[in-house]
Amino acid sequence: MAFRRPFPGGAHPDPQKRTLDAATLRLDPPAAARLLVPMAMHLGAPARPLVAKGARVLVGQPIGAADRPMSAWVHSPVSGTVTAIRRILQSSGAFADAVEIASDGLGEVDPSVRPPDVVDRASFVAAIAASGLVGLGGASFPTHIKLSPPPDKAPDCLVINAAECEPYITSDYRACLEEPDAIADGILQVLRYMDIPRAVIGIEDNKPRAAAALANALKAAAAREADSACRAAAEAAEIRILPTLYPQGAEKMLVHACTGRTIPTGGLPHDVRVMVLNVSTVGFISHYLATGMPLVRRRLTLDGDLAVGPGNYDVPVGLMIADLLALTGGTRGEPEKILMGGPMMGVALDRPDTPVIKANNAILVLSGAVAALPAETACIRCARCVQACPMRLLPTAIDAAARLEDADLLEPTNPLDCIECGCCSYVCPAKRHLVQSIRLGKTILRTAQARKKAEDGRRRAAKEVRP
Ligand code: SF4
Ligand code: SF4
Repeated sequence: MAFRRPFPGGAHPDPQKRTLDAATLRLDPPAAARLLVPMAMHLGAPARPLVAKGARVLVGQPIGAADRPMSAWVHSPVSGTVTAIRRILQSSGAFADAVEIASDGLGEVDPSVRPPDVVDRASFVAAIAASGLVGLGGASFPTHIKLSPPPDKAPDCLVINAAECEPYITSDYRACLEEPDAIADGILQVLRYMDIPRAVIGIEDNKPRAAAALANALKAAAAREADSACRAAAEAAEIRILPTLYPQGAEKMLVHACTGRTIPTGGLPHDVRVMVLNVSTVGFISHYLATGMPLVRRRLTLDGDLAVGPGNYDVPVGLMIADLLALTGGTRGEPEKILMGGPMMGVALDRPDTPVIKANNAILVLSGAVAALPAETACIRCARCVQACPMRLLPTAIDAAARLEDADLLEPTNPLDCIECGCCSYVCPAKRHLVQSIRLGKTILRTAQARKKAEDGRRRAAKEVRP
């Protein structure tokens, strides 16, 4: 069969998925370990701390309130004592409050943790909001917002992201192998309460075992299902095997590959009547509806040439990365770089006393031999970056305009369409730091646009008051 590219451009980075067969191990911090739980582990407004220094907290107890529309609740991942509420600099570069908890090692669960009463769409969305769930694939978008599309954009297709196209990361893959029944159940719950008639699970062709596990689990879930519409949707759910090509898991690429629909510039999946959820996100939904335990733990991949104990681990949110490394055997020498996420889109941490957050699917510990940023040389105008860009942008043109810090030159190059996938930097023979430059270009353009909007507003207001 002829190979057909599912989207323009893309790249084939070395998969390096050496933890594929590493079954998930649960790690718990020892008594007296300090966890740091940020109030801003999601897109949108930070949660408001609900506890004060000295308070005793239990596992699953709310410690951060989502009292603004675009926010997410935060819960205690351990039982213990609050030792501080402090401002921390997060990996995103923003400051946020964080609740520091000294674990007592007992894992005592809050008695208010019990399965939510879910009978319809409203109670389902309210329960998901109360669970503190955010997209577990890395985007950290509050899930209850995703479950609340505008009424005229109700989705007719649920796309499940099981692509996991970033090198090294295998946490979603392990979820598919280890809890396919929970994933299938989570898919059915979303179809049922959101009244979506169709589901497509997108998975790359390098994960046949995971695809088979999901197919079998969906079949079994359909056979158990009493509701006829839901059973029909489960029976019709399709496992779409996609060519292995980075960034297949990016939302725009995935939606197009699974449905043939194109999300417009600046748009969201609901603009083409699609809802996209990560495979681990739907797995969590099933567990949450059955137990009521909010999002206080997550599965992540630990890897990199300096990690002594590479593998997949189920860890409490808020666990310090330094403690994660200590619990898994430490590192072979001083890391050049610690990445939160994969090598293409991950965020470099400047220190290991940074906590694991909800959307953190991988920690990579890399030596200078692997991670050192090579010196840039002059652009040779080979256009490889242009050919690799899945968004059909001109990375070299954005780079040039960004380095000149010229918003007028930047605007027609559409840097805001960039999904920061890193393909352009990856293929560039001159080792240009294109993604970093494009991020700078986005900031310059956004700042210029905000300034222009404010000036226009002032001019309009001045006109209105003139007699
Ligand atoms: S790939 Fe690198 S060298 Fe080639 S055109 Fe793009 S920026 Fe220039
Ligand atoms: S310009 Fe942006 S979207 Fe295009 S390849 Fe580079 S990082 Fe990816």
